[in-house]
Amino acid sequence: MAQFVLEPVAVYPLIPRPVAIRSSAVADMAFAAIHPEAGRIDATLPDLGCGLAWGSVYKVRPRIALRCPECGHGVHAKLSPFKLRYFAHDPGRPADCSWLNESLEHHLLKLELATAIRTVGWHAQMEVRAADGTWRADVLAFSADGTRRVAWEAQLSPITHEDIHDRTSRYQAEGIGVCWVGVAERLPWMGVVPSIQVCDPHGERPWTVVDGVAGFDYEDGVWSIVDDLPLITFIRWVLHGQTITHRILPRYRRIWHGDQRRYTRRQTIWTTPRSISSEARHDAMRQRQEAWKQQQEERERQAEQRRQEEAEARRREEERQRAIRQEAERARAEELRRKWAAEAEQRRPRREAELRQQQELDRAAERERLQQEQREQQAARIWWDDLSSTQLEQFRAAVTGSLRKKGLRVEFDSEGPTVENAYGIAIYQRYRRYGVLRPSPASMHRLPSAVPVFVRNAREAQQIIDTEKIDPGRVIHFDLPDGEQLLLL
Ligand SMILES: [Zn+2]
Repeated sequence: MAQFVLEPVAVYPLIPRPVAIRSSAVADMAFAAIHPEAGRIDATLPDLGCGLAWGSVYKVRPRIALRCPECGHGVHAKLSPFKLRYFAHDPGRPADCSWLNESLEHHLLKLELATAIRTVGWHAQMEVRAADGTWRADVLAFSADGTRRVAWEAQLSPITHEDIHDRTSRYQAEGIGVCWVGVAERLPWMGVVPSIQVCDPHGERPWTVVDGVAGFDYEDGVWSIVDDLPLITFIRWVLHGQTITHRILPRYRRIWHGDQRRYTRRQTIWTTPRSISSEARHDAMRQRQEAWKQQQEERERQAEQRRQEEAEARRREEERQRAIRQEAERARAEELRRKWAAEAEQRRPRREAELRQQQELDRAAERERLQQEQREQQAARIWWDDLSSTQLEQFRAAVTGSLRKKGLRVEFDSEGPTVENAYGIAIYQRYRRYGVLRPSPASMHRLPSAVPVFVRNAREAQQIIDTEKIDPGRVIHFDLPDGEQLLLL
């Protein structure tokens, strides 16, 4: 550290602008060398960083024995066609010196970084190694008071995530800030570690940061890339603490890339404390909103639960009421059934009495019917006992004769007197009952009123008419005598 005199840094226009550095060819080029007496010298500083003039090492005879800080091989001072001061290895250089494998573009980017750092008032040292070899910075920036250091790594070749993380951690372990600088688009480590993408000058446009720096838009709640920031401005902001690295809060890691019209995922960006607090406020607001939303959802959930519980209570109450009604109906039906049973029980003796009475009546009626029948039979026997068979023949002949006069041919029922014919003898004409011969007066009620009856004489006719109040027109009688003996006379 002794060689760094902390005095105002002279700004030295080392690179004629613009310089297009699209060359990826490796160049044997270094900006630092070890001077046998002055120690480390820097070709990018007017006094080589140690009070020596360029002329004291460039094209001097005898040659100064300068050595490569990296490999220890001899180097000599050179001037490029663009008047760029640098050191190159002497013939017979070791092939593995890392500086030999760096492109011209890489050298020029390092030079640009160092120049910008010095322009904003900090010291810059090229190609610096840690004493213990744990790190080797392309450009190490020192604050004027020597308290702060920031390593600037021009990373133009591919590097694994593991390597870049590892190297970043080593700087951070020593309290050294770091910024990885790339030129290609869509670098895989962009936003993984503190990093920026730069664009080399075009026309009047200087070196510009096009990726890695972002601002937070509170309105939209999104980070968006600041894509047109002069590199020197960025370096000033970083070294003066106005721009710092920030690990984006998880929900904001989809950041807007305005010039590419797309979102990309990033973890780490360079930004201002103001944007960081804006993000924090937005996050707090979002958390409040989410908490409110959750509360709202919880309230709705509870309300829904209450509604369901009330509906369930209503359902249970309705069920209870229904059960009560059913029980009441059942009890009423049971009561009715009991009442009817009781009434039936009350009615039973009466009904049985009625039944007994009816049966008694029926039996009496049957007795009466039988008595009547017996009476009628008795009467019929007496009625017919008066008549001899001769008298019967005589009577039948009279009837037959009388009806023949009317042109009717009749037959007498061979069964003789029957109860169906009121104990008289049916007279058939062409198989139909035409009338009844000598029915018993006591049984006349057994014949339909239209059936004519035939008797022997007026006395018998009168007897029939008197007994049952029969229409005299129905009764046809002859003049046959009552007694047999009279016939004999
Ligand atoms: Zn070397």
